[in-house]
Amino acid sequence: MFDDLCALERVPGLFRLIPGSNYAMSRFTRRAVPPPAGHLSVMEDVTVKHHRGQDNQQALYDDLTGLPNRRLLAQQMVRALTSARESGHRAAILCLAIDRFQQGDDGHGQIAKDKCMKRIATMLTRRLRGMDLVVRTGEEEFTIVLGEIESVGAAGIVAKALVELFAIPLEVEQCPILLRASVGGAVYPDHGEREMQLWQGADTAMRRAKRDGGGRYHLAAQDTSTDVAENVELEDHIRTTLQEGGLRLHYQLQYHMNGQIRGVEALLRLPHPTLGYVSPDRFIPLAEASGLIHPLGKFVIKEACRQLMLWNKAGMTPVRIAINVSPLQLMRSEFAAEVQQAILESDVDPALLEIEITERVILNFDETAKRMTELAALGIRFAVDDFGTGYASLQHLHRLPISTLKIDRSFIQRLCESSRSYPIVKAIVELAHSLKMQVIAEGVEDEDQLQLLRELKCDCIQGFLLSRPLPPEEIKVFLSNQI
Ligand code: C2E
Ligand code: MG
Ligand code: MG
Repeated sequence: MFDDLCALERVPGLFRLIPGSNYAMSRFTRRAVPPPAGHLSVMEDVTVKHHRGQDNQQALYDDLTGLPNRRLLAQQMVRALTSARESGHRAAILCLAIDRFQQGDDGHGQIAKDKCMKRIATMLTRRLRGMDLVVRTGEEEFTIVLGEIESVGAAGIVAKALVELFAIPLEVEQCPILLRASVGGAVYPDHGEREMQLWQGADTAMRRAKRDGGGRYHLAAQDTSTDVAENVELEDHIRTTLQEGGLRLHYQLQYHMNGQIRGVEALLRLPHPTLGYVSPDRFIPLAEASGLIHPLGKFVIKEACRQLMLWNKAGMTPVRIAINVSPLQLMRSEFAAEVQQAILESDVDPALLEIEITERVILNFDETAKRMTELAALGIRFAVDDFGTGYASLQHLHRLPISTLKIDRSFIQRLCESSRSYPIVKAIVELAHSLKMQVIAEGVEDEDQLQLLRELKCDCIQGFLLSRPLPPEEIKVFLSNQI
């Protein structure tokens, strides 16, 4: 079953290269003592030892599994790419998501789930070479950095073997639990030259593997020919629509619990001659992978500010406008200046702008924190979108200038049915309030959800129950009726 990866056998302290495998053994793997499961080995020695003071331990390692966390991931991706560049090798980033935790979760409870996560962490680190890095990047997600590999095929071999690891049920509390994993991979330099680009590519490939039914892997460029053709066509379409000024913003209203409008969220719309409006979930990852996200994002900021100015001129009560910003935009040094420029041109109050980021920005913490602080100094607010699905550490949350948490739609959808969602939503509301943040529930679709959210003292709501995303002319009607 594990034919391919078995080509790589682990012997104490090093991997043996079995003829026929194109997975290269690295000079780094020769060490006398194998690293403890879940911890970085040789590649981390220089940086990690430096950081591994007791104070930093928590900041760098996941409490449950003992695996490194996102902070180390950012450093190690840079390190792996630099090393690959210098040695003329390749490096790969794999994203792995557990597809079927629901089963283990519902049937066996949180303790069993935690045990599973620990077992998976050990399983992954055992399967990989000592020089590779396994990081827990989400509740049920891992990112793996493979240093110094020989070919794209080698990354595929590892990805396949990781998927197959899950073919055998995990024995937890004498109960077999069958899980499945989806893996996506991106290889340097074949699928990109920069860490974030590769990570994004691997993440998109992993999501595609999930969409295709899970329990499989995809590599970034390993699309079917139709996918490739569709993506090329769509990418061209984004470019032309952008140039021709055909992109649109729709706005979804956000309400306070007392029925007052809190603001609107700007959502990008890409009209297509045959597909109608293409979903941003489909074209944003493509724009991110191609670099088009920068002109696209610039358009969104400019247009949202312009719209705010038009509503103000028309005498509407000023409302807050939320803008979704990709982590790639936030990492660019020009970003703050672009936002400032849009504010100046439209002469809007920066306090009315709220930038929505996802927990993923924390991957590049120092850089994004700097950018966020610059913007916060102008009065701009920040919200964490889809909160609860990623892996923001509380320490990070606390250190960033964030004023709003948006509870992910998936928790709200299950709020009335699942006994698990209620305590999670309750905990997020309490967390937000204790950090002096406002909390918005996303994707509210019915009265029962609204009622529970009211009981939980959630501050604001957004969802189809109150309004779908609408073109600006239709939003104006709501704003005009606002007292
Ligand atoms: P998001 O920022 O979490 O936006 C909310 C999404 O949930 C929107 O989907 C909205 O239409 C949908 N939604 C809102 N209420 C409900 C509800 O009650 N039920 C259901 N089922 N869905 C609801 P949309 O417009 O398709 O956007 C999807 C995602 O694409 C957004 O998620 C955001 O992450 C991204 N996106 C949209 N516009 C932009 C943009 O300008 N820049 C960037 N970087 N990303 C964007
Ligand atoms: Mg959003
Ligand atoms: Mg959201």
